[in-house]
Amino acid sequence: MIKPFKKPIYVARPFLPNLDDFSEGLKEIWDNHWLTNKGPIVQRFGQELSNYFETDNVCLFTNGTLALQIGLQGMGIAGEVITTPFTFVATTHSLFWNKIRPVFVDIEPDFYTLDPEKVEAAITPWTTAILAVHVFGYPCKVNVLADIARRHNLKLIYDAAHAFGVRVGNKPIGLFGDMSMFSFHATKLYHSIEGGMLTFQDSGIKSIFDYLKNFGFESEVEVVMPGTNAKMNEMQALMGSMVLEHVNEIIEKRRQITAIYREKLEAVSGIYLRPELPKDIGYNYAYMPVEVDEKEFGMSRDQFYEKLKEYNIYSRRYFYPLVCDFACYKSVAIKDPLTVARKAGERILTLPIYYDLALDDVQRICDIIIAIGSKQANHQSSELAAKV
Ligand SMILES: *Cc1c(COP(=O)(O)O)cnc(C)c1O
Repeated sequence: MIKPFKKPIYVARPFLPNLDDFSEGLKEIWDNHWLTNKGPIVQRFGQELSNYFETDNVCLFTNGTLALQIGLQGMGIAGEVITTPFTFVATTHSLFWNKIRPVFVDIEPDFYTLDPEKVEAAITPWTTAILAVHVFGYPCKVNVLADIARRHNLKLIYDAAHAFGVRVGNKPIGLFGDMSMFSFHATKLYHSIEGGMLTFQDSGIKSIFDYLKNFGFESEVEVVMPGTNAKMNEMQALMGSMVLEHVNEIIEKRRQITAIYREKLEAVSGIYLRPELPKDIGYNYAYMPVEVDEKEFGMSRDQFYEKLKEYNIYSRRYFYPLVCDFACYKSVAIKDPLTVARKAGERILTLPIYYDLALDDVQRICDIIIAIGSKQANHQSSELAAKV
């Protein structure tokens, strides 16, 4: 009998820099006496990210959701946008806030990203863009989507909230498509407490994003467009800058955690792992999704999720329910049966993964999962024996 964890193990836990280092950094803010509005630390942080993402075309925001909303508005996206229901609600909300109609199409079963064939089939004269999600940090079929977008004259936009640090063919993921949004929320692999960023191809659009995130101010007396307030502040930039120094270690630790999960769970009946990623992808190990097959595992995904709680392990059902099934999107007409997304939504569970999760604890989580699974199997076979 394996004992429950004494302290709860959550699905995510933010990396925190050394407190003394952070205090040192705060002194700079106190010295400057400058908290927000394009402060020196935000500007320096922007440069650091520019280097990391290998592009000058970056724009920082107070969070990822406002970054995406402003990105869509700044690019003039309207009408219909083809998107995925297997994502966090903010993807779709950003369309809604721009009065854009979401057209939900299905995902592919290996990595849960938009199925390009379904995208192409859903294009109408009103379609202006594709909004795809690198879900769990798994890159979309970037080349196929780019080809579709080009042939149909559509903008290609990525919600890359999960994809910090991912590379495709040795290019940073933010260089694909017309625009990508990154989230630096505390629960993400990389964070600035809260924060967001756009990377984009057309350098001419940068000034529009800058206006839109700061009320449209051109000068003290000129407002050139009805913007909103979505500026990043100095505290966020300080945290972001300090976490950035550790991002390689963070990704490496997550790689080790993932390797243990994969090795130990591979043979568990009823637990399905994702296939190996193609060789040209540099992955960030942002999440650890598994699928639970109710018949083979002996209990449903939801029962398993509850059972893990008894051991003080808090997994998440990402993404369930599908966005299109939330009350606020019930009235959106959907042609695609979303077969793959529905199946994934009912079977998926993401397991704890974060920088200071001890590798021994990962082993123990796996042992608990194995024990839960085999207990169910024994239970089933004894029931069967009783019937015989
Ligand atoms: C977290 C997340 C967002 C929103 O980012 P915030 O920075 O929390 O506003 C958008 N899309 C996806 C897929 C996310 O996971």
